[in-house]
Amino acid sequence: MRSLERPSALSLRPEPGWALFLDVDGTVLHLKATPDEVRRCDRVCRILDELLPCLGGAIGLVSGRPIDELDELFRPHRLPTAGQHGLERRDVHGRRRAGPAPPGLDRLQAGLKAAAARMPGIIVEEKSHAAAVHYRQVPATEGALRDLVRNMVREHAPDMQIIHGHMVIEIKPTAADKGSAIRDFMAEAPFKGRTPVFIGDDTTDEDGFAHVNAAGGHAIRVGHTDRTAARHVLKDVDEVVAWLDSWPACLRHAAPETGRCA
Ligand SMILES: [Mg+2]
Repeated sequence: MRSLERPSALSLRPEPGWALFLDVDGTVLHLKATPDEVRRCDRVCRILDELLPCLGGAIGLVSGRPIDELDELFRPHRLPTAGQHGLERRDVHGRRRAGPAPPGLDRLQAGLKAAAARMPGIIVEEKSHAAAVHYRQVPATEGALRDLVRNMVREHAPDMQIIHGHMVIEIKPTAADKGSAIRDFMAEAPFKGRTPVFIGDDTTDEDGFAHVNAAGGHAIRVGHTDRTAARHVLKDVDEVVAWLDSWPACLRHAAPETGRCA
């Protein structure tokens, strides 16, 4: 089923017992030509100010970016956050956990950097546990890049996983994903016992959607795609932000006996 044939998430009524998990780029922040161009989103931060107490603090970020970058984007908030697709995670108490860096990642990143130096417009993002190759500025290179990345991963870091997203090729270990990150958050306060809701826009969000579906929650995919596990959709970043902006008023007027918005 195509995503746009699915019902809009606007038909869902927010409930005080929900736990909200958000992907960032392409979900609450507009995509730019390079990841560095994405700047703070003050409107989302203002919405979070109001929304956090309505949901008992149960809001987490689940992104491909490292946690330190996410803190910059969402300052002064320091939310429970899973970075690098769940390979690093910080709980509500500020405790951070990350596994060891994957073998061969240094060689892989060096090889990708050297290749990108010969391909104008290609950006290699080096992270502590993963890498990403962005080609938004030169989409025609997609085929050549896919071959290049596949060969380099095979040579330097064969245990790592390649995921093709919107104008980006992500390379990450298989040890964690956005689904396992949401599962780990849901085992802890303030998320435990709530209904998980996850909004994301890209291939790496599908693990999160699958987990949320299995947990009886709501999986929401942003934008158009042919294949998704999400059961609801939203059109674009603007629609996501406007919807979240409507939550605090709705939740403050939730009927106490049902927990639902009036
Ligand atoms: Mg995204």
